[in-house]
Amino acid sequence: MPIFSKFALLRGSEHLIRQQARGYSSAKPAIAQFSEILNEQIKSIKDAGTFKRERVITSSQSTEITVQGSDKKILNFCANNYLGLANNPEVVKYTKEIVDQYGAGLSSVRFICGTQDIHKNLEKKIAKFHGRQDAILFPSCFDANAGLFEAILTPEDGVFSDELNHASIIDGIRLCKAKKQRYKHRDMADLEEQLKTSDARLKLIVTDGVFSMDGNIAPLPQICDLADKYNALVFIDECHATGFFGPTGRGTEEYHNVMGRIDIINSTLGKAMGGASGGYTTGSKELVTLLRQKARPYLFSNTLAPATVATGTKVLDMLLASDELSKTVQSNTQRFREGMKKVGFTIAGENHPICPVMLGDARLASIFADQMLTHGIYVIGFSFPVVPKGKARIRVQISAAHTKDDIDHAIAAFTEIGRSLKVIS
Ligand code: PLP
Repeated sequence: MPIFSKFALLRGSEHLIRQQARGYSSAKPAIAQFSEILNEQIKSIKDAGTFKRERVITSSQSTEITVQGSDKKILNFCANNYLGLANNPEVVKYTKEIVDQYGAGLSSVRFICGTQDIHKNLEKKIAKFHGRQDAILFPSCFDANAGLFEAILTPEDGVFSDELNHASIIDGIRLCKAKKQRYKHRDMADLEEQLKTSDARLKLIVTDGVFSMDGNIAPLPQICDLADKYNALVFIDECHATGFFGPTGRGTEEYHNVMGRIDIINSTLGKAMGGASGGYTTGSKELVTLLRQKARPYLFSNTLAPATVATGTKVLDMLLASDELSKTVQSNTQRFREGMKKVGFTIAGENHPICPVMLGDARLASIFADQMLTHGIYVIGFSFPVVPKGKARIRVQISAAHTKDDIDHAIAAFTEIGRSLKVIS
């Protein structure tokens, strides 16, 4: 019998003896009941076909990876490594130098003894990149979203959130006491109706810049016009835009030519920006000053490690010097989208490197993704509850580091499998 089960049995009988000694009767020890409840949930996730398994990568993150159980190289088309910088030699070299100089970690939150000059320097660079007054780092963008709304909004205020916003925005809004309203996905008539009838002191419109499941873009010009008309503020989450989207990689506000009209931007260093981790809020001086006093993930969670700070800093230096990489990811995206449409696939979203190949059926998406792997291409099928029922898809993500051959190879594999599974003719 495995040691753990013996331990559980022992704990179970101890529990019963204790319960009886106290005069309680209990059919089952709480720990056994707990396991039963969890196992029921796990089974129902498996029965629904939505159980997520981790595929273990044995190389660095890149367009070419190796995975446990195989020594073959696999082409990776499902990372958020949009700029291909996750294993960039210059970034890695700089990160090693900073670790040598600044150590492995700070063992502290920022305001006690967790702020180094490299943290301040990175915050300045983030603000400069976005053309804002200041920025504040968080351990992740999830934390930035968890910390923002509660810190800035009161019960007198109102928040207007796109119904398909990221989970971290939804959780962050749940934590605040403002009046919460959800508008239909990218539906400006619905948003206007809600703004018009609101008597909130501050009104904050909240949207993902790019919606990661569909690769579609928030209608920022219309959102900013409504904000002007109804005296509202605008927040965007730029996780799937910072560094690579828009003509020079400044994100959705640049793509839509509304630079400077967005009041608050949250984003991540964990995707295009070297892929380490870390998130931030950038905006006005007052906003950042207040967040340093009130944002709970900033106040009560450890500071970013020097290695993480170094990766983000080096990538920002590269992006401030050149927009070459964002141009490359844009042209790679165009090549993939056009090639796939030509052979008959439906690719959702707008001209973004998130390219959802729409298949409809959940099992078909899963079988299709498995067969892609036998062709040396790593992609993932997404189905309910991550996307709506009947809208299963394979989400392909294009990187600046993909070569033209990589992209053509992926299109050829999609075409062959798509024909054999009768998705295209
Ligand atoms: N916001 C969006 C739109 C995201 O896609 C993600 C990551 O999946 C996050 C926030 C969270 O970012 P992080 O990984 O930095 O916590």
